[in-house]
Amino acid sequence: MPKPVIFTIDDDPSVLNSVERDLRAQYGQDYRILPINAGRIALEYLKKLEQRNETVALFLVDQRMPEMSGVEFLMEAIKVYPQAKRILLTAYADTQAAIDSINEIRLDYYLMKPWHPPEERLYPVLDELLEDWKMRVHLPYDGIRVAGTLWSLASHQVKDFLTRHQIPYQWLDIEKDPNAQKLVEGVTSEIKLPVIFFPDGKVLIEPDLKELANKVGLQTRAELPFYDIVIIGSGPAGLAAAVYAGSEGYKCLVIERAAPGGQAGSSPKIENYLGFPAGISGDDLTRRAVSQAKRFGVEILSAQEASQVEVKDAYRIVKLNDGTEISCHAVLMATGASFHTLKMPGADALTGAGIYYGAAYTEAMNYKDKDVFVVGGANSAAQGALYLSRFARKVTVLIRGPEMTASKYLVDAINVNAKIEILSNTDLIEVQGAHTLEQIVIKNTKRNEVQTCAAAAMFVFIGVQPQSKIVSDLVMCSGKGYIFAGPDLMVDKKPPQGWTLERDPFLLETSVPGIFAAGDVRYGTSHRVASAVGEGAIAFALMKEYLKAL
Ligand SMILES: Cc1cc2nc3c(=O)[nH]c(=O)nc-3n(C[C@H](O)[C@H](O)[C@H](O)COP(=O)(O)OP(=O)(O)OC[C@H]3O[C@@H](n4cnc5c(N)ncnc54)[C@H](O)[C@@H]3O)c2cc1C
Repeated sequence: MPKPVIFTIDDDPSVLNSVERDLRAQYGQDYRILPINAGRIALEYLKKLEQRNETVALFLVDQRMPEMSGVEFLMEAIKVYPQAKRILLTAYADTQAAIDSINEIRLDYYLMKPWHPPEERLYPVLDELLEDWKMRVHLPYDGIRVAGTLWSLASHQVKDFLTRHQIPYQWLDIEKDPNAQKLVEGVTSEIKLPVIFFPDGKVLIEPDLKELANKVGLQTRAELPFYDIVIIGSGPAGLAAAVYAGSEGYKCLVIERAAPGGQAGSSPKIENYLGFPAGISGDDLTRRAVSQAKRFGVEILSAQEASQVEVKDAYRIVKLNDGTEISCHAVLMATGASFHTLKMPGADALTGAGIYYGAAYTEAMNYKDKDVFVVGGANSAAQGALYLSRFARKVTVLIRGPEMTASKYLVDAINVNAKIEILSNTDLIEVQGAHTLEQIVIKNTKRNEVQTCAAAAMFVFIGVQPQSKIVSDLVMCSGKGYIFAGPDLMVDKKPPQGWTLERDPFLLETSVPGIFAAGDVRYGTSHRVASAVGEGAIAFALMKEYLKAL
Protein backbone atom coordinates (compact mmCIF):
# COMPACT_ATOMS: atom_id res chain seq x y z
CA MET A 1 0.00 0.00 0.00
CA PRO A 2 1.60 3.32 -1.01
CA LYS A 3 1.94 5.95 1.70
CA PRO A 4 -0.90 8.49 1.91
CA VAL A 5 0.02 11.82 0.37
CA ILE A 6 0.45 15.24 1.96
CA PHE A 7 0.08 17.77 -0.81
CA THR A 8 1.65 21.17 -0.43
CA ILE A 9 1.21 23.89 -3.04
CA ASP A 10 2.91 27.26 -3.22
CA ASP A 11 4.07 29.31 -6.19
CA ASP A 12 7.01 30.79 -4.26
CA PRO A 13 9.91 28.30 -4.55
CA SER A 14 11.61 29.34 -1.32
CA VAL A 15 8.37 28.96 0.68
CA LEU A 16 7.61 25.64 -1.04
CA ASN A 17 11.09 24.31 -0.21
CA SER A 18 10.80 25.36 3.34
CA VAL A 19 7.32 23.79 3.85
CA GLU A 20 8.49 20.64 2.15
CA ARG A 21 11.55 20.40 4.39
CA ASP A 22 9.48 20.85 7.56
CA LEU A 23 6.85 18.32 6.42
CA ARG A 24 9.43 15.74 5.41
CA ALA A 25 11.27 16.03 8.72
CA GLN A 26 8.15 15.27 10.73
CA TYR A 27 5.94 13.16 8.45
CA GLY A 28 8.24 11.76 5.71
CA GLN A 29 8.30 8.33 7.26
CA ASP A 30 4.53 7.76 7.15
CA TYR A 31 3.41 10.06 4.34
CA ARG A 32 4.56 10.93 0.83
CA ILE A 33 5.20 14.66 0.71
CA LEU A 34 4.31 16.14 -2.68
CA PRO A 35 5.38 19.77 -3.25
CA ILE A 36 3.86 21.44 -6.33
CA ASN A 37 4.16 25.04 -7.48
CA ALA A 38 0.78 25.70 -9.18
CA GLY A 39 -2.86 24.80 -8.62
CA ARG A 40 -3.49 23.59 -12.20
CA ILE A 41 -0.50 21.24 -12.16
CA ALA A 42 -1.59 19.98 -8.76
CA LEU A 43 -5.08 19.18 -10.10
CA GLU A 44 -3.58 17.17 -12.97
CA TYR A 45 -1.48 15.31 -10.46
CA LEU A 46 -4.51 14.61 -8.31
CA LYS A 47 -6.18 12.87 -11.25
CA LYS A 48 -3.19 10.57 -11.59
CA LEU A 49 -3.23 9.79 -7.88
CA GLU A 50 -6.92 8.95 -8.15
CA GLN A 51 -6.28 6.62 -11.08
CA ARG A 52 -3.63 4.86 -9.06
CA ASN A 53 -6.11 4.68 -6.17
CA GLU A 54 -3.70 6.51 -3.86
CA THR A 55 -5.01 8.45 -0.89
CA VAL A 56 -4.45 12.07 -0.01
CA ALA A 57 -4.43 12.79 3.71
CA LEU A 58 -3.95 16.52 3.69
CA PHE A 59 -3.72 19.59 1.48
CA LEU A 60 -1.54 22.45 2.69
CA VAL A 61 -2.10 25.21 0.15
CA ASP A 62 -1.00 28.78 -0.23
CA GLN A 63 -3.97 31.12 -0.74
CA ARG A 64 -2.33 33.76 -2.86
CA MET A 65 -1.18 32.16 -6.11
CA PRO A 66 -1.47 33.43 -9.72
CA GLU A 67 -4.02 31.66 -11.98
CA MET A 68 -5.73 29.76 -9.21
CA SER A 69 -6.05 30.73 -5.56
CA GLY A 70 -5.71 28.23 -2.75
CA VAL A 71 -9.47 28.28 -2.13
CA GLU A 72 -10.21 27.72 -5.83
CA PHE A 73 -7.81 24.80 -5.85
CA LEU A 74 -9.34 23.26 -2.75
CA MET A 75 -12.84 23.56 -4.20
CA GLU A 76 -11.78 21.28 -7.05
CA ALA A 77 -9.49 19.04 -5.04
CA ILE A 78 -12.08 18.05 -2.46
CA LYS A 79 -14.37 16.78 -5.21
CA VAL A 80 -11.72 14.12 -5.80
CA TYR A 81 -10.57 13.64 -2.22
CA PRO A 82 -13.43 14.70 0.02
CA GLN A 83 -11.94 13.05 3.09
CA ALA A 84 -8.61 14.90 2.90
CA LYS A 85 -7.90 17.59 5.48
CA ARG A 86 -7.57 21.17 4.19
CA ILE A 87 -5.25 23.89 5.46
CA LEU A 88 -4.71 27.30 3.86
CA LEU A 89 -1.42 29.09 4.23
CA THR A 90 -2.26 32.76 4.42
CA ALA A 91 -0.66 36.11 4.83
CA TYR A 92 -2.36 38.56 7.18
CA ALA A 93 -4.12 40.23 4.22
CA ASP A 94 -5.78 36.96 3.23
CA THR A 95 -7.35 36.04 6.52
CA GLN A 96 -10.80 37.17 5.41
CA ALA A 97 -10.67 34.81 2.39
CA ALA A 98 -9.66 32.02 4.74
CA ILE A 99 -12.48 32.76 7.16
CA ASP A 100 -15.03 32.90 4.32
CA SER A 101 -13.88 29.53 3.03
CA ILE A 102 -14.30 27.78 6.36
CA ASN A 103 -17.90 27.09 5.46
CA GLU A 104 -17.56 27.07 1.71
CA ILE A 105 -14.95 24.34 1.47
CA ARG A 106 -15.09 23.18 5.07
CA LEU A 107 -11.56 24.44 5.67
CA ASP A 108 -10.02 22.69 8.65
CA TYR A 109 -7.50 25.34 9.53
CA TYR A 110 -5.70 28.41 8.25
CA LEU A 111 -2.06 28.92 9.09
CA MET A 112 -0.53 32.36 9.10
CA LYS A 113 2.86 32.71 7.50
CA PRO A 114 5.51 32.34 8.79
CA TRP A 115 4.79 29.13 10.66
CA HIS A 116 8.12 28.89 12.47
CA PRO A 117 9.05 27.24 14.72
CA PRO A 118 7.14 24.32 13.20
CA GLU A 119 7.23 22.35 16.48
CA GLU A 120 4.95 25.01 17.93
CA ARG A 121 2.96 26.39 15.04
CA LEU A 122 2.76 23.68 12.39
CA TYR A 123 3.15 20.16 13.75
CA PRO A 124 0.58 20.28 16.55
CA VAL A 125 -2.10 21.41 14.08
CA LEU A 126 -1.17 18.79 11.50
CA ASP A 127 -0.79 16.02 14.10
CA GLU A 128 -4.33 16.57 15.26
CA LEU A 129 -5.79 16.74 11.77
CA LEU A 130 -3.89 13.67 10.57
CA GLU A 131 -5.00 11.69 13.62
CA ASP A 132 -8.58 12.62 12.87
CA TRP A 133 -8.12 11.73 9.20
CA LYS A 134 -6.70 8.30 10.11
CA MET A 135 -9.68 7.58 12.34
CA ARG A 136 -12.20 8.34 9.61
CA VAL A 137 -10.62 7.38 6.32
CA HIS A 138 -11.50 4.23 4.42
CA LEU A 139 -8.23 3.22 2.83
CA PRO A 140 -8.79 2.30 -0.80
CA TYR A 141 -8.09 -1.01 -2.45
CA ASP A 142 -4.49 -0.92 -3.66
CA GLY A 143 -4.57 -3.66 -6.32
CA ILE A 144 -5.83 -3.91 -9.89
CA ARG A 145 -9.27 -2.39 -10.50
CA VAL A 146 -11.44 -3.41 -13.42
CA ALA A 147 -14.18 -0.94 -14.31
CA GLY A 148 -16.91 -2.02 -16.69
CA THR A 149 -20.49 -3.12 -16.94
CA LEU A 150 -22.22 -6.41 -16.45
CA TRP A 151 -23.29 -6.36 -20.09
CA SER A 152 -19.85 -5.99 -21.61
CA LEU A 153 -18.39 -9.23 -22.96
CA ALA A 154 -14.85 -7.83 -22.86
CA SER A 155 -15.30 -6.98 -19.15
CA HIS A 156 -16.41 -10.55 -18.50
CA GLN A 157 -13.43 -11.94 -20.42
CA VAL A 158 -10.96 -9.77 -18.52
CA LYS A 159 -12.47 -10.76 -15.14
CA ASP A 160 -12.43 -14.41 -16.16
CA PHE A 161 -8.82 -14.17 -17.35
CA LEU A 162 -7.63 -12.55 -14.10
CA THR A 163 -9.61 -15.00 -11.97
CA ARG A 164 -8.32 -18.00 -13.90
CA HIS A 165 -4.77 -16.73 -13.33
CA GLN A 166 -5.58 -16.18 -9.66
CA ILE A 167 -4.74 -12.49 -9.94
CA PRO A 168 -6.78 -10.49 -7.41
CA TYR A 169 -8.71 -7.47 -8.67
CA GLN A 170 -11.54 -5.22 -7.60
CA TRP A 171 -14.60 -5.04 -9.84
CA LEU A 172 -16.15 -1.59 -10.32
CA ASP A 173 -19.55 -1.58 -11.99
CA ILE A 174 -19.81 1.83 -13.62
CA GLU A 175 -23.58 1.56 -13.82
CA LYS A 176 -23.90 1.19 -10.07
CA ASP A 177 -21.00 3.27 -8.80
CA PRO A 178 -20.87 6.96 -9.87
CA ASN A 179 -17.28 7.27 -8.64
CA ALA A 180 -16.25 4.42 -10.89
CA GLN A 181 -18.02 6.09 -13.79
CA LYS A 182 -16.18 9.35 -13.07
CA LEU A 183 -12.92 7.46 -12.91
CA VAL A 184 -13.54 5.95 -16.34
CA GLU A 185 -14.60 9.30 -17.81
CA GLY A 186 -11.33 10.75 -16.56
CA VAL A 187 -9.35 8.50 -18.89
CA THR A 188 -11.57 7.90 -21.90
CA SER A 189 -14.43 9.62 -23.63
CA GLU A 190 -15.17 6.61 -25.83
CA ILE A 191 -17.42 3.80 -24.72
CA LYS A 192 -14.67 1.25 -24.48
CA LEU A 193 -14.82 -1.17 -21.62
CA PRO A 194 -13.39 -2.44 -19.43
CA VAL A 195 -10.93 0.13 -18.20
CA ILE A 196 -8.25 -1.43 -16.02
CA PHE A 197 -6.42 0.67 -13.45
CA PHE A 198 -3.10 -0.62 -12.16
CA PRO A 199 -1.45 0.42 -8.90
CA ASP A 200 1.49 1.95 -10.84
CA GLY A 201 -0.87 4.39 -12.54
CA LYS A 202 -0.98 2.61 -15.89
CA VAL A 203 -4.42 2.31 -17.43
CA LEU A 204 -5.46 -0.22 -20.09
CA ILE A 205 -8.61 0.45 -22.07
CA GLU A 206 -10.36 -2.60 -23.54
CA PRO A 207 -7.04 -4.43 -23.88
CA ASP A 208 -6.64 -7.74 -25.66
CA LEU A 209 -5.72 -10.58 -23.34
CA LYS A 210 -2.13 -10.64 -24.51
CA GLU A 211 -1.60 -7.00 -23.61
CA LEU A 212 -3.18 -7.65 -20.24
CA ALA A 213 -1.07 -10.78 -19.73
CA ASN A 214 2.09 -8.79 -20.44
CA LYS A 215 1.07 -6.06 -18.05
CA VAL A 216 0.39 -8.44 -15.17
CA GLY A 217 3.72 -10.19 -15.74
CA LEU A 218 2.57 -13.44 -17.35
CA GLN A 219 4.82 -15.09 -19.91
CA THR A 220 3.60 -14.56 -23.48
CA ARG A 221 6.82 -15.20 -25.42
CA ALA A 222 8.83 -18.39 -25.67
CA GLU A 223 12.35 -18.04 -24.31
CA LEU A 224 13.98 -20.56 -26.63
CA PRO A 225 13.87 -20.97 -30.41
CA PHE A 226 13.59 -24.76 -30.08
CA TYR A 227 11.96 -27.22 -27.65
CA ASP A 228 11.93 -30.99 -27.35
CA ILE A 229 8.19 -30.91 -26.73
CA VAL A 230 5.53 -28.28 -27.38
CA ILE A 231 2.17 -28.85 -25.74
CA ILE A 232 -0.82 -26.95 -27.10
CA GLY A 233 -3.43 -26.42 -24.40
CA SER A 234 -3.00 -26.24 -20.63
CA GLY A 235 -5.99 -28.18 -19.36
CA PRO A 236 -5.41 -31.27 -17.21
CA ALA A 237 -4.00 -33.28 -20.17
CA GLY A 238 -1.50 -30.61 -21.19
CA LEU A 239 -0.43 -29.82 -17.65
CA ALA A 240 0.04 -33.49 -16.73
CA ALA A 241 2.26 -34.06 -19.78
CA ALA A 242 4.16 -30.87 -18.94
CA VAL A 243 4.85 -31.96 -15.35
CA TYR A 244 6.29 -35.30 -16.50
CA ALA A 245 8.27 -33.75 -19.37
CA GLY A 246 9.71 -31.08 -17.08
CA SER A 247 10.49 -33.54 -14.30
CA GLU A 248 12.59 -35.61 -16.70
CA GLY A 249 14.54 -32.60 -17.90
CA TYR A 250 12.99 -32.15 -21.35
CA LYS A 251 12.78 -28.65 -22.81
CA CYS A 252 9.04 -28.19 -22.79
CA LEU A 253 6.77 -25.30 -23.74
CA VAL A 254 3.03 -25.09 -23.10
CA ILE A 255 0.95 -22.73 -25.26
CA GLU A 256 -2.40 -21.59 -23.86
CA ARG A 257 -4.79 -19.26 -25.66
CA ALA A 258 -6.58 -18.16 -22.50
CA ALA A 259 -5.61 -19.18 -18.98
CA PRO A 260 -4.33 -22.50 -17.62
CA GLY A 261 -6.86 -25.05 -16.40
CA GLY A 262 -9.03 -25.60 -19.44
CA GLN A 263 -12.56 -26.80 -18.78
CA ALA A 264 -11.48 -28.25 -15.47
CA GLY A 265 -10.35 -24.78 -14.40
CA SER A 266 -13.95 -23.61 -14.73
CA SER A 267 -15.29 -26.33 -12.47
CA PRO A 268 -16.32 -25.01 -9.06
CA LYS A 269 -15.82 -28.42 -7.46
CA ILE A 270 -14.42 -31.62 -8.92
CA GLU A 271 -15.64 -34.37 -6.64
CA ASN A 272 -14.62 -37.49 -8.52
CA TYR A 273 -10.89 -36.93 -8.96
CA LEU A 274 -8.83 -39.53 -7.16
CA GLY A 275 -7.35 -38.45 -3.84
CA PHE A 276 -9.69 -35.55 -3.05
CA PRO A 277 -12.61 -37.00 -1.06
CA ALA A 278 -13.99 -33.57 -0.25
CA GLY A 279 -13.57 -32.41 -3.84
CA ILE A 280 -11.18 -29.84 -5.23
CA SER A 281 -11.97 -26.72 -7.18
CA GLY A 282 -10.66 -26.46 -10.74
CA ASP A 283 -8.80 -23.31 -9.69
CA ASP A 284 -6.99 -25.07 -6.94
CA LEU A 285 -6.07 -28.09 -9.05
CA THR A 286 -4.79 -25.78 -11.80
CA ARG A 287 -2.75 -23.64 -9.41
CA ARG A 288 -1.06 -26.75 -8.03
CA ALA A 289 -0.37 -28.22 -11.48
CA VAL A 290 0.96 -24.94 -12.88
CA SER A 291 3.37 -24.42 -10.00
CA GLN A 292 4.48 -28.04 -10.25
CA ALA A 293 5.19 -27.71 -13.98
CA LYS A 294 7.00 -24.40 -13.53
CA ARG A 295 9.08 -25.85 -10.72
CA PHE A 296 10.36 -28.38 -13.22
CA GLY A 297 11.34 -25.62 -15.64
CA VAL A 298 8.38 -25.81 -18.04
CA GLU A 299 7.48 -22.54 -19.75
CA ILE A 300 3.77 -21.74 -19.95
CA LEU A 301 2.61 -19.03 -22.33
CA SER A 302 -0.73 -17.39 -21.59
CA ALA A 303 -3.03 -15.57 -24.00
CA GLN A 304 -1.24 -17.10 -26.99
CA GLU A 305 -3.22 -19.08 -29.51
CA ALA A 306 -1.62 -21.72 -31.72
CA SER A 307 -2.98 -21.29 -35.22
CA GLN A 308 -1.24 -24.03 -37.20
CA VAL A 309 1.08 -27.01 -36.92
CA GLU A 310 3.46 -27.88 -39.75
CA VAL A 311 5.92 -30.66 -40.44
CA LYS A 312 9.41 -29.92 -41.76
CA ASP A 313 11.56 -33.07 -41.86
CA ALA A 314 12.21 -34.08 -38.28
CA TYR A 315 10.89 -30.77 -36.99
CA ARG A 316 7.38 -29.84 -36.00
CA ILE A 317 6.61 -26.13 -36.30
CA VAL A 318 3.88 -24.52 -34.22
CA LYS A 319 2.67 -21.18 -35.51
CA LEU A 320 1.03 -18.71 -33.18
CA ASN A 321 -1.65 -16.16 -34.00
CA ASP A 322 0.82 -13.31 -33.60
CA GLY A 323 3.06 -14.79 -36.33
CA THR A 324 5.65 -16.35 -34.01
CA GLU A 325 6.92 -19.78 -35.06
CA ILE A 326 8.17 -22.29 -32.53
CA SER A 327 10.18 -25.28 -33.57
CA CYS A 328 10.28 -28.61 -31.74
CA HIS A 329 10.56 -32.36 -32.22
CA ALA A 330 7.22 -33.48 -30.78
CA VAL A 331 3.85 -31.76 -30.38
CA LEU A 332 1.04 -32.73 -28.05
CA MET A 333 -2.43 -31.63 -29.02
CA ALA A 334 -4.12 -31.14 -25.65
CA THR A 335 -6.58 -28.55 -26.86
CA GLY A 336 -9.62 -30.17 -25.29
CA ALA A 337 -13.15 -29.17 -26.15
CA SER A 338 -15.35 -26.12 -25.80
CA PHE A 339 -19.07 -25.69 -25.32
CA HIS A 340 -21.36 -25.40 -28.30
CA THR A 341 -22.73 -21.92 -28.55
CA LEU A 342 -26.41 -21.11 -29.00
CA LYS A 343 -27.48 -20.75 -32.59
CA MET A 344 -30.42 -18.40 -32.30
CA PRO A 345 -31.03 -14.71 -33.03
CA GLY A 346 -29.73 -12.37 -30.36
CA ALA A 347 -27.62 -14.97 -28.57
CA ASP A 348 -24.27 -13.65 -29.82
CA ALA A 349 -25.06 -10.08 -28.81
CA LEU A 350 -26.04 -11.18 -25.29
CA THR A 351 -22.98 -13.38 -24.76
CA GLY A 352 -21.19 -12.01 -21.73
CA ALA A 353 -24.26 -9.86 -21.03
CA GLY A 354 -26.36 -12.45 -19.25
CA ILE A 355 -25.56 -15.46 -21.43
CA TYR A 356 -22.46 -17.34 -20.37
CA TYR A 357 -20.90 -20.55 -21.63
CA GLY A 358 -19.79 -22.81 -18.83
CA ALA A 359 -19.94 -22.07 -15.16
CA ALA A 360 -18.60 -18.49 -15.50
CA TYR A 361 -18.39 -18.41 -11.77
CA THR A 362 -16.67 -15.04 -11.84
CA GLU A 363 -20.18 -13.79 -12.63
CA ALA A 364 -22.20 -15.91 -10.21
CA MET A 365 -22.06 -13.34 -7.39
CA ASN A 366 -23.64 -10.75 -9.68
CA TYR A 367 -26.81 -12.82 -9.75
CA LYS A 368 -27.33 -12.94 -6.02
CA ASP A 369 -31.04 -13.33 -5.25
CA LYS A 370 -31.96 -13.36 -8.94
CA ASP A 371 -33.56 -16.02 -11.12
CA VAL A 372 -31.09 -17.74 -13.41
CA PHE A 373 -31.25 -20.61 -15.89
CA VAL A 374 -28.91 -23.45 -16.70
CA VAL A 375 -29.14 -25.16 -20.09
CA GLY A 376 -27.96 -28.77 -20.24
CA GLY A 377 -28.25 -31.93 -18.22
CA ALA A 378 -24.77 -33.45 -18.03
CA ASN A 379 -22.19 -33.25 -15.22
CA SER A 380 -20.93 -29.78 -15.97
CA ALA A 381 -24.49 -28.37 -16.07
CA ALA A 382 -25.36 -30.10 -12.81
CA GLN A 383 -22.25 -28.72 -11.14
CA GLY A 384 -23.01 -25.28 -12.50
CA ALA A 385 -26.58 -25.41 -11.15
CA LEU A 386 -25.40 -26.46 -7.69
CA TYR A 387 -22.80 -23.72 -7.61
CA LEU A 388 -25.20 -21.02 -8.80
CA SER A 389 -27.78 -22.06 -6.21
CA ARG A 390 -25.43 -20.71 -3.56
CA PHE A 391 -26.16 -17.17 -4.79
CA ALA A 392 -29.23 -17.10 -7.01
CA ARG A 393 -32.78 -17.04 -5.66
CA LYS A 394 -33.78 -19.80 -8.04
CA VAL A 395 -31.96 -21.91 -10.60
CA THR A 396 -34.03 -23.51 -13.35
CA VAL A 397 -32.33 -26.26 -15.33
CA LEU A 398 -33.60 -26.78 -18.88
CA ILE A 399 -33.06 -30.23 -20.30
CA ARG A 400 -34.19 -31.51 -23.68
CA GLY A 401 -34.66 -35.12 -22.60
CA PRO A 402 -36.78 -36.65 -19.85
CA GLU A 403 -34.03 -36.57 -17.19
CA MET A 404 -30.56 -35.38 -16.36
CA THR A 405 -27.65 -37.47 -17.57
CA ALA A 406 -25.27 -36.25 -14.85
CA SER A 407 -23.59 -38.64 -12.39
CA LYS A 408 -25.77 -39.96 -9.59
CA TYR A 409 -24.02 -37.99 -6.82
CA LEU A 410 -24.80 -34.75 -8.67
CA VAL A 411 -28.42 -35.66 -9.46
CA ASP A 412 -28.93 -36.63 -5.79
CA ALA A 413 -27.53 -33.27 -4.68
CA ILE A 414 -29.82 -31.43 -7.10
CA ASN A 415 -32.89 -33.36 -5.99
CA VAL A 416 -32.50 -32.20 -2.40
CA ASN A 417 -31.69 -28.61 -3.31
CA ALA A 418 -34.84 -26.54 -2.82
CA LYS A 419 -33.56 -23.72 -4.99
CA ILE A 420 -33.14 -25.85 -8.12
CA GLU A 421 -36.00 -26.78 -10.42
CA ILE A 422 -35.59 -29.12 -13.39
CA LEU A 423 -37.68 -28.53 -16.50
CA SER A 424 -37.40 -31.69 -18.57
CA ASN A 425 -38.47 -32.15 -22.21
CA THR A 426 -37.82 -28.46 -22.62
CA ASP A 427 -36.27 -26.63 -25.57
CA LEU A 428 -34.87 -23.14 -25.46
CA ILE A 429 -36.44 -21.26 -28.36
CA GLU A 430 -35.49 -17.64 -28.04
CA VAL A 431 -33.44 -15.22 -25.97
CA GLN A 432 -34.54 -11.62 -25.54
CA GLY A 433 -33.05 -8.45 -24.09
CA ALA A 434 -31.94 -4.98 -25.16
CA HIS A 435 -28.48 -4.75 -23.56
CA THR A 436 -28.61 -7.68 -21.19
CA LEU A 437 -30.58 -10.88 -21.15
CA GLU A 438 -34.10 -10.12 -19.92
CA GLN A 439 -36.21 -13.11 -20.82
CA ILE A 440 -36.15 -16.44 -22.54
CA VAL A 441 -38.80 -18.34 -24.46
CA ILE A 442 -39.00 -22.08 -23.79
CA LYS A 443 -41.15 -24.88 -25.11
CA ASN A 444 -42.28 -28.05 -23.39
CA THR A 445 -42.02 -30.50 -26.25
CA LYS A 446 -44.29 -33.07 -24.63
CA ARG A 447 -47.18 -30.73 -23.94
CA ASN A 448 -46.34 -28.46 -26.86
CA GLU A 449 -46.56 -25.44 -24.54
CA VAL A 450 -44.58 -22.26 -25.07
CA GLN A 451 -43.72 -20.04 -22.15
CA THR A 452 -41.80 -16.76 -21.67
CA CYS A 453 -39.78 -16.47 -18.46
CA ALA A 454 -37.89 -13.53 -16.95
CA ALA A 455 -34.22 -14.47 -16.78
CA ALA A 456 -31.40 -12.48 -15.22
CA ALA A 457 -28.78 -14.85 -16.62
CA MET A 458 -28.42 -18.11 -18.43
CA PHE A 459 -25.46 -20.49 -18.17
CA VAL A 460 -25.17 -22.77 -21.16
CA PHE A 461 -23.66 -26.26 -21.06
CA ILE A 462 -24.94 -27.87 -24.26
CA GLY A 463 -22.32 -30.38 -25.27
CA VAL A 464 -18.81 -29.83 -26.39
CA GLN A 465 -16.90 -29.76 -29.63
CA PRO A 466 -13.25 -30.76 -29.97
CA GLN A 467 -10.75 -27.95 -30.56
CA SER A 468 -8.85 -29.61 -33.38
CA LYS A 469 -9.21 -27.07 -36.19
CA ILE A 470 -5.53 -26.15 -36.21
CA VAL A 471 -4.53 -29.67 -37.25
CA SER A 472 -7.64 -30.81 -39.07
CA ASP A 473 -5.84 -30.63 -42.46
CA LEU A 474 -2.79 -32.40 -41.10
CA VAL A 475 -3.96 -35.33 -38.97
CA MET A 476 -6.89 -37.72 -39.30
CA CYS A 477 -10.00 -36.71 -37.39
CA SER A 478 -13.49 -38.11 -36.94
CA GLY A 479 -16.49 -36.49 -38.61
CA LYS A 480 -17.08 -34.46 -35.46
CA GLY A 481 -13.46 -33.34 -35.34
CA TYR A 482 -12.04 -35.65 -32.66
CA ILE A 483 -8.41 -36.57 -33.39
CA PHE A 484 -7.76 -40.24 -34.14
CA ALA A 485 -4.72 -41.74 -32.44
CA GLY A 486 -3.04 -45.13 -32.03
CA PRO A 487 -5.34 -48.16 -32.60
CA ASP A 488 -8.15 -45.93 -33.88
CA LEU A 489 -6.02 -45.14 -36.93
CA MET A 490 -5.47 -48.75 -37.92
CA VAL A 491 -7.40 -50.12 -40.87
CA ASP A 492 -7.22 -53.92 -41.28
CA LYS A 493 -4.38 -53.88 -38.74
CA LYS A 494 -2.42 -51.53 -40.99
CA PRO A 495 -1.38 -47.92 -40.30
CA PRO A 496 -3.26 -45.25 -42.24
CA GLN A 497 -2.27 -44.13 -45.71
CA GLY A 498 0.68 -41.76 -45.69
CA TRP A 499 2.14 -43.15 -42.45
CA THR A 500 5.90 -42.96 -43.01
CA LEU A 501 7.44 -45.17 -40.31
CA GLU A 502 8.05 -48.91 -40.06
CA ARG A 503 6.40 -49.15 -36.69
CA ASP A 504 2.70 -48.62 -36.05
CA PRO A 505 1.55 -45.34 -34.47
CA PHE A 506 2.00 -45.28 -30.70
CA LEU A 507 -1.11 -45.47 -28.53
CA LEU A 508 -1.67 -41.67 -28.46
CA GLU A 509 0.15 -40.77 -31.64
CA THR A 510 -1.84 -39.23 -34.50
CA SER A 511 -1.58 -40.07 -38.20
CA VAL A 512 1.54 -37.85 -38.35
CA PRO A 513 4.57 -39.19 -36.47
CA GLY A 514 5.66 -36.93 -33.62
CA ILE A 515 2.24 -35.32 -33.22
CA PHE A 516 0.31 -36.74 -30.29
CA ALA A 517 -3.16 -36.15 -28.86
CA ALA A 518 -4.46 -36.47 -25.31
CA GLY A 519 -7.59 -35.59 -23.37
CA ASP A 520 -10.94 -34.32 -24.60
CA VAL A 521 -9.72 -33.58 -28.12
CA ARG A 522 -8.90 -37.24 -28.74
CA TYR A 523 -11.40 -39.61 -30.29
CA GLY A 524 -12.72 -42.10 -27.75
CA THR A 525 -11.65 -40.27 -24.59
CA SER A 526 -13.97 -40.28 -21.60
CA HIS A 527 -14.22 -36.53 -20.91
CA ARG A 528 -13.01 -36.68 -17.36
CA VAL A 529 -10.25 -34.86 -15.51
CA ALA A 530 -8.64 -38.14 -14.48
CA SER A 531 -8.64 -39.51 -18.04
CA ALA A 532 -7.11 -36.29 -19.36
CA VAL A 533 -4.41 -36.38 -16.67
CA GLY A 534 -3.72 -40.06 -17.35
CA GLU A 535 -3.55 -39.53 -21.09
CA GLY A 536 -1.24 -36.55 -20.63
CA ALA A 537 1.14 -38.70 -18.58
CA ILE A 538 1.04 -41.54 -21.11
CA ALA A 539 1.47 -39.15 -24.03
CA PHE A 540 4.68 -37.90 -22.46
CA ALA A 541 6.02 -41.45 -22.06
CA LEU A 542 5.30 -42.10 -25.74
CA MET A 543 6.83 -38.80 -26.87
CA LYS A 544 9.93 -39.80 -24.93
CA GLU A 545 10.09 -43.04 -26.97
CA TYR A 546 9.64 -41.01 -30.14
CA LEU A 547 12.44 -38.57 -29.20
CA LYS A 548 14.80 -41.42 -28.32
CA ALA A 549 14.38 -42.93 -31.79
CA LEU A 550 15.19 -39.68 -33.65
C1 LIG B 1 -17.90 -26.86 -15.77
C2 LIG B 1 -17.24 -28.20 -15.93
C3 LIG B 1 -17.18 -29.08 -14.87
C4 LIG B 1 -16.54 -30.31 -15.00
N1 LIG B 1 -16.49 -31.14 -13.93
C5 LIG B 1 -15.84 -32.31 -14.01
C6 LIG B 1 -15.75 -33.16 -12.88
O1 LIG B 1 -16.27 -32.86 -11.81
N2 LIG B 1 -15.06 -34.31 -13.01
C7 LIG B 1 -14.47 -34.69 -14.16
O2 LIG B 1 -13.82 -35.72 -14.20
N3 LIG B 1 -14.56 -33.90 -15.26
C8 LIG B 1 -15.23 -32.73 -15.21
N4 LIG B 1 -15.34 -31.93 -16.31
C9 LIG B 1 -14.70 -32.38 -17.58
C10 LIG B 1 -13.18 -32.09 -17.56
O3 LIG B 1 -12.97 -30.79 -17.09
C11 LIG B 1 -12.58 -32.28 -18.91
O4 LIG B 1 -12.78 -33.60 -19.32
C12 LIG B 1 -11.07 -31.97 -18.90
O5 LIG B 1 -10.84 -30.65 -18.50
C13 LIG B 1 -10.44 -32.21 -20.25
O6 LIG B 1 -9.11 -31.83 -20.17
P1 LIG B 1 -8.23 -31.48 -21.44
O7 LIG B 1 -6.89 -31.09 -20.92
O8 LIG B 1 -8.31 -32.56 -22.42
O9 LIG B 1 -8.93 -30.24 -22.16
P2 LIG B 1 -9.48 -28.86 -21.63
O10 LIG B 1 -9.71 -28.89 -20.18
O11 LIG B 1 -10.61 -28.52 -22.52
O12 LIG B 1 -8.28 -27.85 -21.90
C14 LIG B 1 -7.88 -27.51 -23.20
C15 LIG B 1 -7.09 -26.21 -23.18
O13 LIG B 1 -6.57 -25.97 -24.46
C16 LIG B 1 -6.65 -24.60 -24.78
N5 LIG B 1 -6.64 -24.45 -26.24
C17 LIG B 1 -7.55 -24.91 -27.13
N6 LIG B 1 -7.18 -24.58 -28.39
C18 LIG B 1 -6.01 -23.90 -28.29
C19 LIG B 1 -5.11 -23.29 -29.24
N7 LIG B 1 -5.35 -23.32 -30.54
N8 LIG B 1 -4.00 -22.67 -28.76
C20 LIG B 1 -3.73 -22.63 -27.43
N9 LIG B 1 -4.55 -23.18 -26.50
C21 LIG B 1 -5.66 -23.81 -26.91
C22 LIG B 1 -7.98 -24.21 -24.16
O14 LIG B 1 -8.04 -22.80 -23.94
C23 LIG B 1 -7.96 -25.01 -22.86
O15 LIG B 1 -7.35 -24.27 -21.81
C24 LIG B 1 -15.96 -30.69 -16.23
C25 LIG B 1 -16.02 -29.81 -17.32
C26 LIG B 1 -16.65 -28.58 -17.17
C27 LIG B 1 -16.72 -27.64 -18.34
